[in-house]
Amino acid sequence: MTYSLAIIGGGPAGAAAAVYAARKRLHSIFITKDWLGQSYVSEGIENWIGTPKISGLDLSKSLETHAKEYAKGIIDFKEGELAARIEKSGDVFKITSTKGSYEARAILITSGSSRRKLDIPGAAEYENKGIIYCATCDGPLYADQDVAVIGGGNAGFESAAQLMAYCKSVTLLSRSEYKADPGTVEAVSKNPKVKLVQFAAPKEIKGDTFVRSLVYTDTKTKKDIELPVTGIFVEIGSFPNTDFVKGLVDLDQYNRIKVDAHNQRATIIGGGHGIWAAGDVTDGLFHQNNIAAGDAVKAVEDIYLWLHAK
Ligand SMILES: Cc1cc2nc3c(=O)[nH]c(=O)nc-3n(C[C@H](O)[C@H](O)[C@H](O)COP(=O)(O)OP(=O)(O)OC[C@H]3O[C@@H](n4cnc5c(N)ncnc54)[C@H](O)[C@@H]3O)c2cc1C
Repeated sequence: MTYSLAIIGGGPAGAAAAVYAARKRLHSIFITKDWLGQSYVSEGIENWIGTPKISGLDLSKSLETHAKEYAKGIIDFKEGELAARIEKSGDVFKITSTKGSYEARAILITSGSSRRKLDIPGAAEYENKGIIYCATCDGPLYADQDVAVIGGGNAGFESAAQLMAYCKSVTLLSRSEYKADPGTVEAVSKNPKVKLVQFAAPKEIKGDTFVRSLVYTDTKTKKDIELPVTGIFVEIGSFPNTDFVKGLVDLDQYNRIKVDAHNQRATIIGGGHGIWAAGDVTDGLFHQNNIAAGDAVKAVEDIYLWLHAK
């Protein structure tokens, strides 16, 4: 069977695409690892338009519910499944996933991005044993303990702001100048529990069953410093989930899919049309929930016209 459309990814972009595809009766396959858009870890999202405040988890649940509401008999959902490769084969695309293979005439990629992991000795060994990628989710487990946050961007400072409410001390390490908003830096730095360390390159994580310390290098003095901490919260950015389309569509220097901002079309290497992308996976200038959803709507509108003009 050849589907009209394949949607890859169940964040806000994918959910918005499902709603529009269902209402347009586009027979689609929807492949997603999960329904957890990146902001699911957020305690309170205050800028999802039409909803003054919602937790990230509740937003994810409502997106899933909405995506499925009008989809019966129109969209086949494949959950817990990852797109592993997409190839062009004549007029259709072949999608190989971790569980099967499918064909579709058009593809909309909404696979977003994933958190960058720490790559130093001990990092893999102590993941979930003191190395954490979500302060909101796991921070309370470290109440009254000494913890470190790695990352000098907004995410790092926001994590520190959450942790300082209940941790004994929070040391925030940044490799370079802070990239966070000056207002956030100022607010966090005023808290006596927080220590800010700049020009600190993480070197090694030590422990027994759980993390006991973090070794970092002061890049100015070249000295190694061992910081006794039981929790290390990593906030060092993210990367787009585009491995499965490498060589198929044009990517930018950060491996994000280049799109035409008018209609979200991607450029297929070797020519032809049929692939769109929306949300954080693209080279769009701004990445937000509302933008991801809006871009996906734009894409489905264009996909519908393109399929019916064929
Ligand atoms: C901590 C945090 C807080 C945030 N807070 C806000 C906020 O308050 N307001 C705001 O507007 N934005 C916020 N953002 C940004 C916002 O979360 C993103 O812009 C938005 O989630 C992007 O949506 P998306 O659909 O493009 O991708 P994502 O949300 O990344 O969703 C991608 C989906 O694709 C799936 N997937 C990935 N790879 C594959 C694959 N190969 N095959 C199948 N499925 C795949 C994933 O499992 C996921 O379901 C926040 C981000 C973070 C990290």
